Parts: sequence; structure tokens; C-alpha cells
Amino acid sequence: MAKNIYLRILSQLDTGIIVISSDRNIIYWNDWMYIHCGYSPELVKSHKLMELFPELIDTRIDRAVFKALDYKCPSILSAKLLKVTFPLYKKSITSCSKTFITQSVLVKPIELGDEDDYCIISISDTSSADLREKALREQSHSLNNIIKQIQKSDNQFKLIFDSTTNGIIVFEESGKIISSNGAGSAIFGYPEDHFSGADINIDSIMPGTKGRIKYFKEHIESKNNRQIMDFEEVEVIRHDGETIFLSYSFDCMPIKNSKNKYFVSFNDITEKKRTEEALFHLAKYDSLTNLPNRNNFFDIANRALNGCDRRRELVSVLFIDIDRFKTVNDTYGHNVGDRLLQEVSIRLTNCLRKDDIVARLSGDEFAIVAKHNVDDRAPISIAEKIISEIGKAFIFDGNEIHIGSSIGIAQYPEDGKDIETLLTKADRSMYDSKNSGGNLVRFFTNEMNRSMQTRIKMEVDIRRAIENNEFEMYFQPLINLSDSSIYGVETLIRWHRPNCGLVLPEEFISTAEECGLIVQLGDWIIENALSKQRLLTETLGEGVRMTINLSPRQFRDSSLADKLEIFIENNLADPNFIVFEITEGHLLEGGKQSVDMLKKIKKLGFSIAIDDFGTGYSSFSYLRDLPIEILKIDKSFLIDSENDATSLKLVSCIVDLAHALDLTVIAEGVESETIKEFLQGVHCDIGQGYYFDKPLSINDLLAINSDKYEKGLRKH
Ligand code: C2E
Ligand code: CA
Ligand code: CA
Repeated sequence: MAKNIYLRILSQLDTGIIVISSDRNIIYWNDWMYIHCGYSPELVKSHKLMELFPELIDTRIDRAVFKALDYKCPSILSAKLLKVTFPLYKKSITSCSKTFITQSVLVKPIELGDEDDYCIISISDTSSADLREKALREQSHSLNNIIKQIQKSDNQFKLIFDSTTNGIIVFEESGKIISSNGAGSAIFGYPEDHFSGADINIDSIMPGTKGRIKYFKEHIESKNNRQIMDFEEVEVIRHDGETIFLSYSFDCMPIKNSKNKYFVSFNDITEKKRTEEALFHLAKYDSLTNLPNRNNFFDIANRALNGCDRRRELVSVLFIDIDRFKTVNDTYGHNVGDRLLQEVSIRLTNCLRKDDIVARLSGDEFAIVAKHNVDDRAPISIAEKIISEIGKAFIFDGNEIHIGSSIGIAQYPEDGKDIETLLTKADRSMYDSKNSGGNLVRFFTNEMNRSMQTRIKMEVDIRRAIENNEFEMYFQPLINLSDSSIYGVETLIRWHRPNCGLVLPEEFISTAEECGLIVQLGDWIIENALSKQRLLTETLGEGVRMTINLSPRQFRDSSLADKLEIFIENNLADPNFIVFEITEGHLLEGGKQSVDMLKKIKKLGFSIAIDDFGTGYSSFSYLRDLPIEILKIDKSFLIDSENDATSLKLVSCIVDLAHALDLTVIAEGVESETIKEFLQGVHCDIGQGYYFDKPLSINDLLAINSDKYEKGLRKH
């Protein structure tokens, strides 16, 4: 190949090459040098190295050049020992960011076949510490080869081409490979001469080259000048199937009266890339727990806060500090301390939903970012879960270790709009928790603290109330509007809360629902209602129809149908007289699972009523498809609506539609004679409300004067 091709290739190497003559003038300088210090090859010619880099005067490099030229002595200067290195900077898109290149430098004497003495300087970027030693060894090896071969041959550049550690492959416009140097095939895992003369297309080993050739061809034709591409990265498959990364540069050499030649020059940077990835991970993640570290936390948390306003989301930031961690560390040693932190991070992660963020801030401090809706108890339940999970024993090498957690919570947007403010406030609240004895949760905002404390107290009290039998079922008559007889009763729960008197369900049902106690309470309700239904039946000598409210959680409890079946088997329930009330929203939101449960309950012989109709979806379509018998129109339609024509019109329409679907209609909230008469006028089947009776205790129910209703408390 022509000498200028070798020259071109040399200029493209990923290593700095300088050749200096005995009069200390630079006679050759490749493009790498130009890129990393800004002096072009033309400019430096016939200049002395020390004129360009005065800082090198009287340094080891200066002495190495002197030794090479005057004493034929080679030197290897590694970054570790090199006090002053070439002032070369990494090429960067922004000129202001100047990263100094860590380098290893080789200085060797060479003979180029004339009378003169020369020395060659080769400079490698060894910024990645792991690669430094390897690069040094390789560089030394390759330079030895270069020098050895140059000394033996006239064709100096061919030899440089062959002995460099950069892979070089030369090919035609069609992509057919003409030749390659040893490194070129070795990097791909082939024997040295594999590519030369073989019928291989460059695109098959380096995908994308075809497009490059096309681009270059068009450029050369239109501008008739040479294009050099910067180093780029490409992923290729090695001969043994392994994926490797190459840093490569592509060039075309227009040759007069002959076909253009193209070549790629490349380095295997797989190891460097892996190191970079490892370093990236190290910079972003905590190496002990693999959780995001503090810096990364700020980045991801700020990203999470972005757009929350628009989506009307609330965000809670939890600051968690482990109680007694220092004692564990001091007692059992750092090894156990580390394992404890690892286990803590696993438990923390398990307390969260998929989209929540947890990070280790430092030592035994962790932070969490969780998004939630306005009415959501997410921050409280997450905090409670954490306290309970971290409170469970940790067992290491047979030692049972007990720690706790102190948690501070700040909320977006009330407490702050950026993560720094929120975290500071959460941290401050965490200190409050710690100062109050640890194993506690504190909100930054007082109001939240109060509402949380009330809720937590409510939970404790409900639990105790179940044990102490503080609940009682009340019964509200449902009246047949056609003849004022009693159709049945709705069971409604009441709580005799110590020092609070009789507490209505609205004050505690939602808390019981949120903390899951409703399942336990619901079991009690069903059992109690059924026993009262039997009592009424026995007392009156006839079955009494009874409706029982089911909360969503109860309805989703997969064992509900089994429990009911056991009641039937043990003759504790007569499904013919029992109606379960469920609201339409809960039925629809529960999806297929709810529909399946509904069908199971129905199959056991119970009836189903849709409660509070008109407050949610008010959709009739599902009523047609599901086995539902009764529709209860929500009381809001009738309370204070004597003069509200729209409300009354709606009630009349609902009744008509429900009848068209063969449903029995109960209107709740009948408070006056006028409303009762209105309902009779629109042929509503049943009325329920204070006009007839308030919810009554079992004794009051049994005592109501049967004359009050034409046919008494009977099923008709
Ligand atoms: P709900 O199922 O809609 O029950 C009807 C509520 O309306 C009852 O309130 C009842 O006292 C009230 N009410 C009846 N007639 C009138 C009237 O004419 N005017 C007015 N203003 N109100 C009337 P209560 O007993 O306070 O129950 C409230 C809610 O608590 C119930 O609404 C139900 O959702 C829930 N709840 C009550 N008992 C239970 C229960 O045993 N289990 C479950 N899961 N929830 C229950
Ligand atoms: Ca109800
Ligand atoms: Ca209702």
C-alpha cells in the first residue's frame, strides 16, 4: 500500500505519536496530538518539543528525549512517577470543561535508515486507573515491535501499521476487506492473517459500515475532499460470540486513477466500558445496599416531584433513622452492622409500592418518596408498616437483634415544593420522633400529627372494642309503601365507646376499612345480625327479612363465601331472609373478583341490594347483567328535596328504570309525609327513614307498637 495510506492510518490512531530528529525538531505528529492539544501537524513541524510545551523543560520527559537521542536509551514514564506530563486535555463538546488526560509516555530511539538519529514518543490515555498498567504493558510491547521492524525495513509505515495495537482494516467501496493488521483480526478473535485476501464484507463484522461508506462516497464526490470521522463507539460480536465494544474511526482515502480505499481504525474498549459502567453505578448507588445514594436520591426525587401539581398528586417524603444502630455496630462489629443495613433496606423496599423511591442517605439514614392521592393514608400506612417491619427481630449468626426506627414525614406541597426543603423538614420531624423515645412517626405539619394520632388511637380503640364487645347492632325498619307494612330491617352498627357515648358508624367504619380491621369487625357484624335475625324470627314466629351492609374490604375477602356457607350448614343463617347491601362503586371497582363474589353469595341463596344508588356511577347497564334484586336510592335525593323538582324527577326516573329491570326499589331518607306520598305516587316499593323510624336497638324494635304499621314486623 502507498506510504500516504500508512501515514493517514497513523494519524488516526487512538494514541499520540511524535517523532523527533537528533536536532530536537519534530518531524512527525499525528492527529491525536492535534485533537488533544490544539497544535496541528503542519504547525509543529520543525518546532522543538520544548518550544511548544515549555512546562516540560527539565522534566523527566525532557531527559528521556535526551537519553533516547544521545544515548539510545528508551524510557517508560508512567503517570504514577511522571510529575509533569504533556498538557493534553480530553476533547469535550464544551470547550470550558477541560479534563486533563492521565497518560503513560514511552520514549524510544529509532533508526529510520538514514544517517540521522530519531526518537519516537508515544502517549496513551490511561485515565481509567484499572487500565493504566495494562495500557503501559501493551504500549511498550507494541512500540518495541514498531521500532524493531522499522529498523529492519525501509517501509517504515507498513511496519508501524502492522505492529500497532490499534486494529486497522482496509476495504474497498463494496465493503470487501483488502487487508488488516494483526491487531485488527486479533480483536475480533481471529488469527492474524484472517482478513487478508478472504472474501469478507466489513459490514458483516462491523454493522453500519455500509451506510458510512455511502455517506463518505457522496461527500467525496460532492466536495472532493477527505472526511475524517471522530472516534465513535460500536458494539460488535467477536468470533467466539462474545459482545465487545470498539472505539473506532472511519476514513476514506481517494486515490487518483484508482478505486478509493477505506479503512477503520479501532480499539477494544470493552474493559474500559465495563469499568465506566461500574464507576457510574458506584457514583449513583450505595455499594452496601445497592439503593440509590444521596446524590442520586436528589435527582430522582426532583424528577418525581416534577408535574405533581399538574397531576394533582401529593407526595410524602419520609426520613428514617434506625434506632440503636450504633449499639449494634459497637456490640456485634461492623460486619453484622453491614448485614443489618442490607436487611433493613430489603425490608424497607418491601414496605413500598413499585413506584415509590427509597435511598440510603448515609450511615443508618434512609429516605423515601411516595406519591399518593388526597384521601390516601399512604404516608401513615407506609410509616406504620416500616415501624412494624424494622421492629421485628433480625437474626445474624444465631444472635437475635432488635432495633427500631424513627420516622419524620414532610409533605408536598404544604411543607415545601423542592426535595431539599422537604427532606430538611422530614429530618427535623425525625428528630422529634427520636427525642420522644424513637419507634415513632412525626409529621412536619401539626395538623397531620393530630389527625394521625387520632387515627392511631381510633385503631387501637376499635381493636379493643371488638374484644370488649362494645359494638351493638341497631335496626331500621323498611316499610312497604303500598300498605305501610314492614318489609324488613336494615342492620346498622353502633359503638358504645367509653367516655364518648353512642358513636355512629361514619366516625369509625372508614378507619376500620383502611386498617383492615373491618374484616374482623365485619365477621362480628354478620354473626351478630344473623343471631338477631333468628331471635326476631323465633319471637315473632315468622321470618323477618334483614339487610346487612358489606364494606368493600369484606366483599373482597375471598373467604367471605366460605364463612357464609358454614353459617348455612350450621343452621345459623337462612339465606332466604338475608340481603347484603353493597355500593355500586365498590362493586364496579372490584372488577371480576367482586362480580365472582357476588355470584357466589347469590348462589348460596342470599339476595343482593345496591346501596346508595345515584351517588356514583348510576349505571343501569350492570344492573341488568348481575344477579341483583334490590336498588336503594341514596338518601341525598330525598332529604330536604320537597321543593327540589329535579331531584324528585330523578327519583321518579330511577324507579321507572329499576322496575323495567324487575328490581325492587327502596328509597332512603324518607323524613316527611310529603316525601312518603311522593314516593307512593311514583310507585316506589319501599321507604326507609326517620319519618317511619330511626335505627332502633333490638329491644326497641321488638317493643314498637305493631299497630304503628298496618301489618307489624312481619315478612309479607
Ligand atoms: P347506609 O348504609 O346508607 O345507611 C343508612 C344511613 O342513613 C344510616 O346511618 C341511617 O341511620 C341513616 N338514615 C336512615 N334514615 C334516615 C333519614 O331519614 N334521614 C337521615 N338523615 N338519615 C337517615 P348510619 O347508621 O349512621 O350509618 C351510616 C353508614 O355507615 C351506612 O350508610 C353504612 O354505609 C355504614 N354502616 C352502618 N352500619 C354498618 C355495618 O354494619 N357495616 C358496614 N360495613 N357499614 C355500616
Ligand atoms: Ca345500607
Ligand atoms: Ca344507603
